[in-house]
Amino acid sequence: MKKHNFSAGPCILPQEVFEKSAAAILDFNQSGLSILEISHRSKDFIAVMDEARALALELLGLTGKGYQALFLQGGASMEFLRIPYNLLPQDGQAAYLDTGTWANNAIKEAKLFGDTVVVGSSKNDNYNHIPTDYTIPANASYFHCTSNNTIFGTQIKSFPQTNVPMVCDMSSDLFSRTLDFSKFDLIYAGAQKNMGPAGTTLIIIKESILSKSGRSLPSMMDYEKHLKADSMYNTPAVLPVYSSLLTLQWLKNQGGIAVIEEQNEAKAQLLYNEIDRNPLFVGTANKADRSNMNATFLLNDPAHQEAFDALWKAAGISGLPGHRSVGGYRASMYNALPLSSVQVLVDAMQELERQVQ
Ligand SMILES: *Cc1c(COP(=O)(O)O)cnc(C)c1O
Repeated sequence: MKKHNFSAGPCILPQEVFEKSAAAILDFNQSGLSILEISHRSKDFIAVMDEARALALELLGLTGKGYQALFLQGGASMEFLRIPYNLLPQDGQAAYLDTGTWANNAIKEAKLFGDTVVVGSSKNDNYNHIPTDYTIPANASYFHCTSNNTIFGTQIKSFPQTNVPMVCDMSSDLFSRTLDFSKFDLIYAGAQKNMGPAGTTLIIIKESILSKSGRSLPSMMDYEKHLKADSMYNTPAVLPVYSSLLTLQWLKNQGGIAVIEEQNEAKAQLLYNEIDRNPLFVGTANKADRSNMNATFLLNDPAHQEAFDALWKAAGISGLPGHRSVGGYRASMYNALPLSSVQVLVDAMQELERQVQ
């Protein structure tokens, strides 16, 4: 039986994406060939790549606004270094907001390349909130933030106003909510949180910010090289790109980001209401900064852990234990997770309350 998959990533995808991906592995477009054995230069795969790149921009409302999309390899972690390579001149300064483990990893990479300033951090509070009292230096080469902190369950609800190019790691909430995406100059997301299988990263770039770092770039690090080659400088991750396209098509058929956002809000509200109502549980993130994607919560009394774990496992729930840096539980509610799965979790929380009384 299909589990209620609350995993933080790789994550649940729409059932039709699994089915169509499986079919394409056996016979792609009735070609008599598997998608795993065709050339990435074949007409059929070029069409997949072109449509995936165009559809990503369309769903974000960025078509015709000077942006390009790339599907590259190396995960979001590779962009931690590709970004300073492309955007940080030798004598420039990069500004970073430190809101969690992933933000911190991005900062560590940027420091290898040049002057990097951390303008704000919630590290001393174990990242339970998003800092607001920070200033972005006006002469920074770029400002980098992480829209959703997958591990700590916080999410940036309002982004700073700045004239500095804005770079955002949206790995765990891209395509989950409407934003004015044209405020950003570079957006990137590892596919495996909300868009597809692991193996490809979507990078959305405003073309006008490129060719300013003055560095000689190794080819694989050079966004412009990848753009010139239409995201096929080297062999792309054929299957992950195809499965990502299927997810984007599914999202469009649902009605786009605005429609899925309403469902995501309903799911998050259902769970947070229970966390706040149920005396056995407590949320770890500041309420104003709570993530609609990853809800982190603890049992007030760890003695109930065995009983609760038995309850949610028996209910067919998977992927609920929290990250080791927060402990407790983390319910990841990405686009493809139905509201009914969240109800199953809420039911288990209420059943625990009955057992304890
Ligand atoms: C998972 C995650 C990453 C790392 O992604 P990889 O593709 O494994 O490199 C980076 N940033 C955020 C916000 C994440 O959730």
